[in-house]
Amino acid sequence: MPTETVAEHKPFQAEVAELLHLMVHSVYSETEIFLRELISNASDALDKLRYEAIAAPDLTADGEPPRIRIVPDKKAGTLAVIDNGIGMDRQELIDNLGTIARSGTKSFLSRLTEAKDGAGLIGQFGVGFYAAFMVADRISVTSRRAGAAEVWTWSSSGGNGFDIAPASDEDARRVTRGTEIVLHLKPDATKYLEAYEIERIVGAYSDNIQFPIELKPEEGEPRQINSASALWQRSKSELKPEDYTQAYRSIAGAFDDPAMTLHYRAEGRQSYAVLLFAPSTKPFDLFEPMRKGRVKLYVRRVFIADDADLLPAYLRFIAGVIDSEDLPLNLSREMLQNNPQLAQIRKAVTGRVISELENLSEKEPENFAKIWDAFGAVIKEGIWEDFERREKLLTLSRFTTTSGEKRSLKQYVESLKPNQTEIYYLVGDSVERLKSNPKLESATARGIEVLLLTDPVDAFWTSAPLDFGGKPLKSLSQGDVDFGLIPMLDDNAPKQSSGADEAATIAVIKDALGEKVSDVRASQRLTTSASCLVAGGAGRDRQLERLLAQQNRGAATKPILEINLRHPLVAAITQQKHVARDLSLLLLEQAQILDGELPEDPAAFANRLNGLVLRGVSGQPG
Ligand code: ADP
Ligand code: MG
Repeated sequence: MPTETVAEHKPFQAEVAELLHLMVHSVYSETEIFLRELISNASDALDKLRYEAIAAPDLTADGEPPRIRIVPDKKAGTLAVIDNGIGMDRQELIDNLGTIARSGTKSFLSRLTEAKDGAGLIGQFGVGFYAAFMVADRISVTSRRAGAAEVWTWSSSGGNGFDIAPASDEDARRVTRGTEIVLHLKPDATKYLEAYEIERIVGAYSDNIQFPIELKPEEGEPRQINSASALWQRSKSELKPEDYTQAYRSIAGAFDDPAMTLHYRAEGRQSYAVLLFAPSTKPFDLFEPMRKGRVKLYVRRVFIADDADLLPAYLRFIAGVIDSEDLPLNLSREMLQNNPQLAQIRKAVTGRVISELENLSEKEPENFAKIWDAFGAVIKEGIWEDFERREKLLTLSRFTTTSGEKRSLKQYVESLKPNQTEIYYLVGDSVERLKSNPKLESATARGIEVLLLTDPVDAFWTSAPLDFGGKPLKSLSQGDVDFGLIPMLDDNAPKQSSGADEAATIAVIKDALGEKVSDVRASQRLTTSASCLVAGGAGRDRQLERLLAQQNRGAATKPILEINLRHPLVAAITQQKHVARDLSLLLLEQAQILDGELPEDPAAFANRLNGLVLRGVSGQPG
């Protein structure tokens, strides 16, 4: 009698025996991943059948649609996972379920044994079929290779070996194609017989398996418990906008409409499908530092991880799926971080997202505006973080300026004034406050556009040396500005000096303010206001100083007081010696208030102001 027809006991490959030993004695709590593994294998088997049937249509001549069926049986204490996929013949059962062909198994095993919480690694690596031994003390696999007459049953209790035997007549009649895996559940794993538990696990891990997964309850008809639509794998032409909206909502767990949808397939060195969405509204936890990305990594339609950092942090509002055809299914955490293939995908997809945002900004400005309103503050983090894409991100950025809202730098540069060589900005808390900031005056008098930056992140990204189209970005509250070559709008406006004795005035004010400021200078920025505070050219911008000071970070540097020599208050300083000190302090305090700060000593400020006003009212020199 040929061996192919009799029952045999065979030993496991040494690695399998070792792995099974670990599985059987596992204390790993998230045993539920066994179901993900079995469903993923079933899905692979359906994929393979689909592929083989292209060349051999007979294999699916029975017309049975592909499906995966889960059948709990409480009385027997068994859970069956059944597919009508490619199936396995005798030798395949022996090879596939008795050895581990994957490379790296040895090193994985040694890590698993060494690690104190070896069990914890199980979930991270995924151990495939053998994970089922975490929940079952006996497993039997009955399988019919598509198109074959023979049906074989593999069974094992996870010890040193397995039995392989022809299936019983009854089993052979039932399994017409594919594989039926029956788990005899351990006493502590019987919760996996509950319909709601099965549904929960399938929903969590396998919802996007493209084949229908049916649950056959103990009573009643089988019903489908997954959505079975790996939508990203379908071609764009067969999908309607509603399909995308629904997919967006189910993938992102959102309720709004996507403001941008990016769906494509990359082929070449690597193939993967990409389906990404930008929401049109802001999620509540956008600025949580711990917030993870929302792009799920799939490998061949099997969910792998939703925290694989597939996009840089400044695109953390993008949600969706990247489904790779090439990556191994058992990707560990380390591999997620260090895998060069994944790094390539990350780079390519990031570039694609940004160019799609660029497209949108040109072709659908309203939708782009929604994204910018909700996430502009996040995208701007990239100007600071992503040196390589700085120029692109600056191009995408939209600003409120003294000329209007949602202005791009391209528009700004197109409307430069004659001789203007820099892009000016001012950082502060609110547009209203910035608009009344005296530092704008001289720019306004020349019709120079100024970006009014009010997001907290603006203080940070602007601290990088930046330029756009060869024009450096320059803060109006930092260092020197020189508008000298840019003509005034109104030719009759007073030009520079008033003829007052500059040096003497500055000396008096310096003397009065002492250590409160680092310097006092005549201002180029002011036309109508008396004074303003600026940071030194090499120092940090005033707004960044303020933010850091609020967080007690970084030593505050003293500002420079700039004064408008044409202003009567400044002129009065040299003319009315008896109030020179009070007036000097007032110049400083006014400037602080106009920057949205409090004077150092508000009570003294109020007294000083009252004193000066009363003197003025009574007309008496003090
Ligand atoms: P992997 O899926 O990574 O290959 P597994 O341990 O999950 O590793 O499965 C081992 C092999 O067993 C699979 O590669 C496949 O050849 C075979 N196999 C497992 N389950 C099935 C099934 N339901 N139908 C057909 N073949 C299967
Ligand atoms: Mg598998």
